[in-house]
Amino acid sequence: MIIILKANASEADAKEILNKIEAAGLQPLHMPGVERTVLGALGDERVLQGLNLDSHPQVESIKPVLSQYKLVSREIYPQDTVVNLGLTSVGSSQFAIMGGPCAIESEEQLLETAKYVKKAGATVLRGGAFKPRTSPYSFQGLGVEGLKIMHQVGQETGLDTITELVDIKDLDDVARYTSAIQIGARNMQNYSLLKAVGETQKPVLLKRGLSATIEELLLAAEYIVATGNPHVMICERGIRTFETATRNTLDLNAVAYIKEKSHLPVIVDPSHGTGVRSLVAPMAKAGVACGADGLIIECHRNPRESVSDAAQALSPGDFTELMQQLKPFIIASGRQFVTAYDLQGARYAS
Ligand code: PEP
Ligand code: MN
Repeated sequence: MIIILKANASEADAKEILNKIEAAGLQPLHMPGVERTVLGALGDERVLQGLNLDSHPQVESIKPVLSQYKLVSREIYPQDTVVNLGLTSVGSSQFAIMGGPCAIESEEQLLETAKYVKKAGATVLRGGAFKPRTSPYSFQGLGVEGLKIMHQVGQETGLDTITELVDIKDLDDVARYTSAIQIGARNMQNYSLLKAVGETQKPVLLKRGLSATIEELLLAAEYIVATGNPHVMICERGIRTFETATRNTLDLNAVAYIKEKSHLPVIVDPSHGTGVRSLVAPMAKAGVACGADGLIIECHRNPRESVSDAAQALSPGDFTELMQQLKPFIIASGRQFVTAYDLQGARYAS
């Protein structure tokens, strides 16, 4: 329920009502606004009705939250959420670019990649240390060794880093060695994993499940936020449809829809969304145009040698060219193309 207070309600009135909500065993939310204060109460609505808050002299109106997801809904928090990774502010005027290999293969590979993605304009280095592969015989990732490589390369280049967490047992290591945690498509509904990352304050990139509806995706995000971690980014990475010409169908409707319904930032993944190298650039541009807050793109120093997702990996030249081509799209969408050099320069200068 959303409780809108009268314009002249005081801080003490808000406190009194919040205390009542909490005492009834409901979760109170305090959202002070410029013109008026809005309060929220999450939990059993019958209990809330029993509190008779509409008869309180400072309550203007009470509205139900219509969506199933509450904390991630704009009904409760209309303002855009900005998730800070370090250099990168996802959901702000800065358009966030994450680039790197599907899998971390060696320190040399990751460092070389980090240098060129940084030069091209990315501020976040991606790379999997734990790879959830469809076949048990495919490369499974370097594990903790890969995380250490990512940490080292992140330190050396100053880039933010993101890697996928597959198993709760690795949470502490992933949180220690990287700036943000990716929850992969195959784990979108792994509720114990969602609650585990919800107990941290690490930024989380939650990828849409292969056959998840938007509502299921937003409810998965709600798990993380409801557990206590508000730093959540949503990722549209394509869904499985009847179409087999491409690996997945990148659902850009979802981007516009989620931006309308939720305050969480949205990242588009045109690499997994298409699975086809030549389609990554056009769909990256489409992602910017439909309102995404950032992109996550796979690239490899030698795509043919990539141990995973080789068919969708961009070469260093393709990645650099795409960044140049994206600039006017980013500016036209009202965002800024900010490189790590711009941000680090400003930081060192101040
Ligand atoms: C990945 O980012 O390499 C990955 C495995 O993504 P997804 O979970 O979207 O398949
Ligand atoms: Mn991949």
